[in-house]
Amino acid sequence: MSHPNSHSHAPTHSKYPRLLEPLDLGFTQLKNRVLMGSMHTGLEEIPGGDERMAAYFAERAKGGVGLIVTGGFAPNNRSATADGSRQISTDEDIRAHQKITAAVHEHDCKICMQILHTGRYAFNKNPIAPSAIQAPINPNKPQAATLEEIEEQINDFVKLAASAQKANYDGVEIMGSEGYFINQFIASRTNQRDDDWGGSYQNRIRLPIEVVRRVRGAVGEKFIIIFRLSMLDLVEGGSSYEEVIELGQALEKVGVTIMNTGIGWHEARIPTIATKVPRAAFTWVTAKFKQHFSIPVITSNRINTPKVAEQVLSRGDADMVSLARPFLADPEFVNKAIANKADEINTCIGCNQACLDHVFSGKLSSCLVNPRACHETMINITQTSNPKNIAVVGAGPAGLAAATTAAECGHSVTLFDAANEIGGQFNIAKQVPGKEEFYETIRYYKRQLELTGVIVKLNHSVTTDELNQSDFDTVLIATGITPRLPPIEGIEHSKVLNYLDVIRDKKRVGNKVAIIGAGGIGFDVAEYLVHQHHKTDDGKDIAQSIPEFMEQWGVDMTFEHRSGVEGVVPDELIEQDSAQREVYLLQLKASKMGAGLGKTTGWIHRLGLKQKDVKMLSSCDYQKIDDQGLHLSIAGKQTILDVDHVIICAGQESLNSLADGLTKTFQLIGGADVAAELDAKRAIHQGTLTAISL
Ligand code: FAD
Ligand code: NAP
Ligand code: SF4
Repeated sequence: MSHPNSHSHAPTHSKYPRLLEPLDLGFTQLKNRVLMGSMHTGLEEIPGGDERMAAYFAERAKGGVGLIVTGGFAPNNRSATADGSRQISTDEDIRAHQKITAAVHEHDCKICMQILHTGRYAFNKNPIAPSAIQAPINPNKPQAATLEEIEEQINDFVKLAASAQKANYDGVEIMGSEGYFINQFIASRTNQRDDDWGGSYQNRIRLPIEVVRRVRGAVGEKFIIIFRLSMLDLVEGGSSYEEVIELGQALEKVGVTIMNTGIGWHEARIPTIATKVPRAAFTWVTAKFKQHFSIPVITSNRINTPKVAEQVLSRGDADMVSLARPFLADPEFVNKAIANKADEINTCIGCNQACLDHVFSGKLSSCLVNPRACHETMINITQTSNPKNIAVVGAGPAGLAAATTAAECGHSVTLFDAANEIGGQFNIAKQVPGKEEFYETIRYYKRQLELTGVIVKLNHSVTTDELNQSDFDTVLIATGITPRLPPIEGIEHSKVLNYLDVIRDKKRVGNKVAIIGAGGIGFDVAEYLVHQHHKTDDGKDIAQSIPEFMEQWGVDMTFEHRSGVEGVVPDELIEQDSAQREVYLLQLKASKMGAGLGKTTGWIHRLGLKQKDVKMLSSCDYQKIDDQGLHLSIAGKQTILDVDHVIICAGQESLNSLADGLTKTFQLIGGADVAAELDAKRAIHQGTLTAISL
């Protein structure tokens, strides 16, 4: 095998020579250094899912990625994520997977199946784990595996690897991180056995070593084995730096081909992939371990542009990069990088809204910025046989998706916006600290408008009369929303502002503030008010630096603290921030604050604001606003908050008066259609589907 750092095949014309360089594994070659990381999408379980999975993976393979890892498949029923998770046990299952691998191989791409034993994270009635210690994120307590059961689990790993080989996979990825079964054996947090599989570190790592040794024995030499090694557990009672090296080196010896990086257990309370995690925030971890391994090492987490990936590889942090969600957002990511067209990439904004949040609610994954993801056989943009002249009014997410899709279908499209820039409310969202990725969606659409030939008319507030007198065949009304003003006495007082006044219009906000409404926007406004703002020289908002982020969340970057967190003292940065402004975030409802936020990100918003001393109060009944401040009762107790400003974030109402008296054929999309529970996921989805159906 050539050394993973050899760069002899680097394309000289490319902006991304390291990224696009082949990787020689000795018995086989990967055409570039990009791995599509494992994601369970839900296609695995639905009727007809195999064909849809084949189409989904094939599209990514065609898009140029070098290696794909499937979502996790369980070695047996008990180890599956949930009852009813798809197993691969029959010849029929193997034949179905042969279709998936064939579809991928057609595009000169390799594919590995991930073997995932969830252990105490299994949502079934009878999970199995090293010890009977319940996970904080699972209502079910596991049973401690008997010696026979440990043997059975290892055998089932081996059987599944053999089935993957029969299904023509190029290899397997053995999931050893994220707090799953193998990781549970490794860590004293979850392994309190006193037999040969517990106690000393050497005993606790016997399981991963045995699994790899026996899988290698069964599949022979010419089969890729990736091991996902937990390099930073981010929970107490995890592994130390030296222990991770010891395990990695032992795994190399028993036959691992490529080492992948795992960061953080699922139960860790440190964000690792959400949008507010800086790009490539954890590659320093891989970099520290790479020098101790002789096989190629993959790094991951929030790498979402070719430029960032190239920087990571050129710095020598890893030999290969794993990108998962970016392939939901844009299957053509690698081809666009090859063609030096990174500005055409639909960038993953790390929102989790249509991918992970869906998986954790039992829904099929997709992507907020790409509704076609996981719907490749169902949503397709084809040339129309009946081209029309279309007006799209409003260049927010709904209007942008509709305009570009309609133009791609062959319609002649004019897009209007009253503002001087495209993007609608995304221009407000992008200014919230931690949401800087929203700039990328606007950049993507700006380029798409150019590529699809949409005529764009900015600073143009459209009227009904104008449309009636025009020669447009159809009008798509995407005029969005207007903030709701709740009927509270004194709502006209000079202390009262709304979120547009604060974020868009930069009105001065005092040091003591009450926010009425704790939906997504209320939380964002609170974050905006208490967070330090980072800007480039030309005024663009930029994400927190990686060391600042680690400091805020209590992650040790020196590896002196076990698992990166044990004994880490909270930082002074938080105290400085919170001292700046006193903020009350209020809601009418008695329920938990932020209950309606994303399933996988709500806790991050809550915890982030708590760290900055934002006071979150529910069961609020607002009575009036006057010079004294906000008069209200909180859980029945009368009080006055003597605040400088009251900021209204109490939801929104549709802005669609353009439709009144409109004589043209029209459709309402996005917020103009329904304001309640509007988000960009619905806006882009509806805009895309409406345009396809024209
Ligand atoms: P809008 O984005 O409101 O766009 C409407 C456009 O129409 C505007 O540009 C307006 O200028 C234009 N317009 C109106 N009238 C006329 C006229 N007569 N002539 C010409 N142009 C006109 N959503 C998420 O999914 N995830 C998030 O994390 C998220 N965070 C957010 C954070 C903040 C602070 C805010 C304010 C919103 C956030 N949203 C988020 C919501 C998301 O931005 C909206 O759901 C989405 O923008 C709605 O899209 P739309 O196209 O329907 O309307
Ligand atoms: P929202 O989520 O519907 O929240 C509006 C809040 O206003 C509610 O929590 C409600 O809370 C309060 N409210 C409603 N009527 C009120 C009244 N008459 N008086 C006082 N309070 C009232 O809407 P939003 O915050 O404006 O956000 C708009 C959309 O943008 C959301 O639907 C969301 O999907 C999207 N968004 C998403 C994110 C994200 O991170 N995913 C972030 C920002 C925005 P109470 O009744 O409990 O007080
Ligand atoms: Fe990325 Fe959001 Fe799409 Fe998920 S839904 S892939 S996080 S852009």
